[in-house]
Amino acid sequence: MNLLYQSTRSHTAPITASQAILKGLAEDGGLYVPESIPKLEVTLKELSTLTYQQTAYEVMKLYFTDFTEEELKSCINNAYDEKFDTKEIAPVKEAGGLYYLELFHGSTIAFKDMALSILPHLLTTAARKNNVTDEIVILTATSGDTGKAALAGFADVKGTKIIVFYPKDGVSPIQEKQMVTQKGSNTYVIGIDGNFDDAQNGVKAMFNNKKLAEDLKAKGYVFSSANSINVGRLVPQIVYYIYAYGNLLRKGVISEGEKINVAVPTGNFGNILAAYFAKQMGLPLGKLICASNENKVLFDFLETGVYDRKREFILTSSPSMDILISSNLERLLYLASGKDSDKTLSLMNSLAKEGEYEITKEMKDNMSGILGGYASESQTAEAIRKVYEGTGYIIDTHTAVGASVYVRYKEESKDESKAIIASTASPYKFTRSVMEAVDSKYGSMEDFELVDELSRISRVPVPAAIEEIRRAEVLHDRVCKKDEMQLVVEEILK
Ligand SMILES: *Cc1c(COP(=O)(O)O)cnc(C)c1O
Repeated sequence: MNLLYQSTRSHTAPITASQAILKGLAEDGGLYVPESIPKLEVTLKELSTLTYQQTAYEVMKLYFTDFTEEELKSCINNAYDEKFDTKEIAPVKEAGGLYYLELFHGSTIAFKDMALSILPHLLTTAARKNNVTDEIVILTATSGDTGKAALAGFADVKGTKIIVFYPKDGVSPIQEKQMVTQKGSNTYVIGIDGNFDDAQNGVKAMFNNKKLAEDLKAKGYVFSSANSINVGRLVPQIVYYIYAYGNLLRKGVISEGEKINVAVPTGNFGNILAAYFAKQMGLPLGKLICASNENKVLFDFLETGVYDRKREFILTSSPSMDILISSNLERLLYLASGKDSDKTLSLMNSLAKEGEYEITKEMKDNMSGILGGYASESQTAEAIRKVYEGTGYIIDTHTAVGASVYVRYKEESKDESKAIIASTASPYKFTRSVMEAVDSKYGSMEDFELVDELSRISRVPVPAAIEEIRRAEVLHDRVCKKDEMQLVVEEILK
């Protein structure tokens, strides 16, 4: 059976997985969703014996049904290889009674690698299957981590170019250094004088611009997206929740069928949506906790049913979650409305025009398995310090938002279920904020001194991704205004 995909905003002719991966965003501006969510075909016991790559195949074959077994296995094996610094790919570490699912062992030490190391392979395979001969131009807005992970994934991939826009003053120094030192003759990195939402809106506008698409087509280019709206990113993210469950079962931490909770530090709602899909596939997950930083638009939404982006944008120490428009939430709205594309469209129109929308009580009830929480800057820092002082383990600022929210949920609810905290970045990626949280005395040290100090106190070797940028040369220094993004793209593709 072929699983087809349709837009959240209209029920026109559904398309295959490979076509949805190629398109990224639907023409009507909606996001692609599978017509139904498949059920896992392996038992939980069998799961506990599978490697990461085998688990990935078990999940992806259910979603990407127009790929052959050979094609999928080749994509998987090319993605989850020595680029990861551990065979487990996504190991689980226990600290203070919580289970941290470390999603940062890939080439850019943040969780975006989990999907972006496979997306280029899925995309080029999809192009081949659909006889696309145009050069694929990946256009991406990033709050820091997507950009580098996409650049690393696509650099020098034949038949592709990648253009990344990031908020010039909205990413960490190490994130910026990682991007502007990117090698590869097909890579372009541009800072904009705006925030992440500005970058994302600019990219969306280009995707929706039919005239631009025609002009580029005439030159032999076609746009695609590496943003988390692409189903080629969503599906690979489902894998690690399923793998983590098998891992805990194998270690005897949980018994077969035991429900576990998951807390996910959230920005664009992609990672937690993947957990939601894993649960719908039959994985025994209990509560899904959506953890926000001070940009708590999702917390307010989950509490009240009103999504209101009309608020101050706050720069926090977890910049990859500094987001006021969580794109992937659209998929949840669609599912919670009973796949009502008219309803989804009207909510999205309201968000675009009025800056807000309100869902129905029925939709809200349908989302009751997802709880919201948020952590202030001081709570985030406190979580890092407490975990370190209690266990010696050092978590990054994003993970700390998840941990802080989860610990308070547990205290208030008395829910004693075991819990996975999605650990979305290595502390080395946000060294300054992490070290200052551990002890304010670190405030006066240089960035790379802090890196060495972090290694000393955590007894974790400095990852290769950080060693590389110590001395790397800046190769990208272009900056533009937020309304000049299209001009820049046209110039690059001249
Ligand atoms: C992108 C990112 C997030 C947020 O993930 P979403 O899928 O956008 O919700 C959290 N932490 C880190 C480190 C990230 O890079």
